[in-house]
Amino acid sequence: MQEERKTLEQREQMTDVERLRHSASHVLATAILKLWPEAQFAAGPPVENGFYYDVDLPHRISPEDFEKIEAEMKKEIKANHPFERIEVSRDEALELGTKGRLAALSERPEPSKYKIDIIKNIPPDEKISLYRSGDFVDLCAGPHVMRTGNIGAFKLTNLASAYYKGDEKNPQLQRIYGTAFKTKKELDDYFAMLEEAKKRDHRKLGRELELFVFDDDVGPGLPMFLPRGAVIVEELEKLAKETEFAAGYQRVRTPHIARQSLYRKSGHLPYYADSMFPPMILAEEPKADLLSEVGKESPEYRMRLGLSKDEILRGKESEQSFSVALDVEPRYGDVYFLKAMNCPHHHKLFAAVPRSYRDLPLRLAEYGTCYRYEKSGELFGLMRVRSLQMNDAHIYCTPEQFEAEFNAVNEMYLKYFKLFGIDKYLMRFSTHDPSRLRGIDAKFVDEPELWKKTEEMTRNVLKNSGINYVEVPNEAAFYGPKIDVQAWSVIGREFSIATNQVDFAQPRSFDLRYKDRDNIDKIPICIHRAPLGTHERFIGFLIEHYAGNFPLWLAPEQVRILPIGDEPKVLDYSMSILNELRAHQVRAEIDRSTDNINGKIQRAEQMKVHTMFVIGKRDMEASAVSVRVHGKGNLGAKPRVEAMAEIVQSIRERRA
Ligand SMILES: [Zn+2]
Ligand SMILES: [Zn+2]
Repeated sequence: MQEERKTLEQREQMTDVERLRHSASHVLATAILKLWPEAQFAAGPPVENGFYYDVDLPHRISPEDFEKIEAEMKKEIKANHPFERIEVSRDEALELGTKGRLAALSERPEPSKYKIDIIKNIPPDEKISLYRSGDFVDLCAGPHVMRTGNIGAFKLTNLASAYYKGDEKNPQLQRIYGTAFKTKKELDDYFAMLEEAKKRDHRKLGRELELFVFDDDVGPGLPMFLPRGAVIVEELEKLAKETEFAAGYQRVRTPHIARQSLYRKSGHLPYYADSMFPPMILAEEPKADLLSEVGKESPEYRMRLGLSKDEILRGKESEQSFSVALDVEPRYGDVYFLKAMNCPHHHKLFAAVPRSYRDLPLRLAEYGTCYRYEKSGELFGLMRVRSLQMNDAHIYCTPEQFEAEFNAVNEMYLKYFKLFGIDKYLMRFSTHDPSRLRGIDAKFVDEPELWKKTEEMTRNVLKNSGINYVEVPNEAAFYGPKIDVQAWSVIGREFSIATNQVDFAQPRSFDLRYKDRDNIDKIPICIHRAPLGTHERFIGFLIEHYAGNFPLWLAPEQVRILPIGDEPKVLDYSMSILNELRAHQVRAEIDRSTDNINGKIQRAEQMKVHTMFVIGKRDMEASAVSVRVHGKGNLGAKPRVEAMAEIVQSIRERRA
């Protein structure tokens, strides 16, 4: 990943714990230099849950070195050096770098080469500052804690390798990760949480509970749900369909592929091309010729867009940015793409029928499957995949309706959070960067007024609804402001679950219109929303959240009947209960193996079956069942009718 330099604003917004962790990275570098004075350092920012420092060092640091590095770090913390800020001119900074004095304890024979490179990339109007703590001097914009002694508790956690600036053409560095907290207790709690998370790891539980698999022949990042996992998928869809139906949504269905022209209209090409699978080219010429010609120049872009390098470059240089490139027709027959998003298809459905203000708001929903080309190094269980089934919908509304619609979307989120027992969540509201509306590094659609207006409307809704949110500048989608929803699982681990987007650009590029009261054609605003995110990520989250102990309504196997012994009458009675449960759509199974009852219970507990009906002769004679609930143990005998009614009721109400 490309690491961008933090803006002044971002630095000011660094939280106390981020300052503390970043300060710990200075102490880490100091400790490494005490052990290996020739070490060269690159970047050392705080990251989620900790910090790292990238170091270039002939000695290969291993976890066995952690103890002695940590011992040196402790000395630095104990010495309680102040972090002293020194402002210098660019020339002074470069001179120190040349003397090897940056990220160093003293002058050294080798220049501080990475720091020199960083200085050269600091914008001319930005002040250059150094920070000194003890003998250690580093090029750094801050901020830090006051003194090294303010770093309460820390631990080095792991090692990785990383290319300088994330570019594989640059040297490979050793990345040393650590974490730090104000107190020892917070540090201990954090590691206890990680331990618990390991037990709840969705990849491990997914295998053990037979929920989903990956297969090399199918391809990396393409999960398949086994019957027990498919149950959860279907239950979530049912929930979404019922909730959306009640909220006035209509369902649509669209294909998984579309022509290139669709994605040019939507702007996904070229803005989003890197995240899409390469195109399927339906060549009119023999394919072999096509491939050899494609190989001649700019294979990357040609394959992706069917354009030549010249066309791409011409497009970029011109004032209208990509528009020249966009006008060029594909040269080889038809070009299709797997869909990376459902929106363009839905826009076409909006446009398929003449719309008037009376049709709005129009809410089109689909659990659409999308395909995104994530780098193989970034694939991670169900959390980062290449095929994703999304709880998608697009709401087309007038500017007057926007606030109510956006509010209703937020309410839907809150309703789901309550249902799943998600107590802690945060909405990250990302806005645009006005300096990147045009030019070669344009990142946002060039509509300054609309950006301002929609961002303001969105901010108002968030403020008025009292939802927990933060504002993040410069991270909007290319077509409008965006809200990422983060939720914390029961054990306190954070997940990005879903994204909402406000979109004024795509309705324009698709020429979407409705007849307003005054009989004038107007362009609707579009809200993209997906409260349950994707099945993949949401189920990954739920597995950890529930540790695989799903509530009854979501449980892959809701009831297992465990007859004691093999007396035909007891078996008949058990079968009649099974049939009755199934008649009520309860996912029930029976264990008719010849194992003893303890073995049967153990097996059911292992698969985390929600409820067990243990049935012996006495139960049969009393028209009863002995109820056992996973994790709660034996709840005693109950009349059959009562036990049955409770199961059905709990499922219907989707009880926790
Ligand atoms: Zn610093
Ligand atoms: Zn969308």
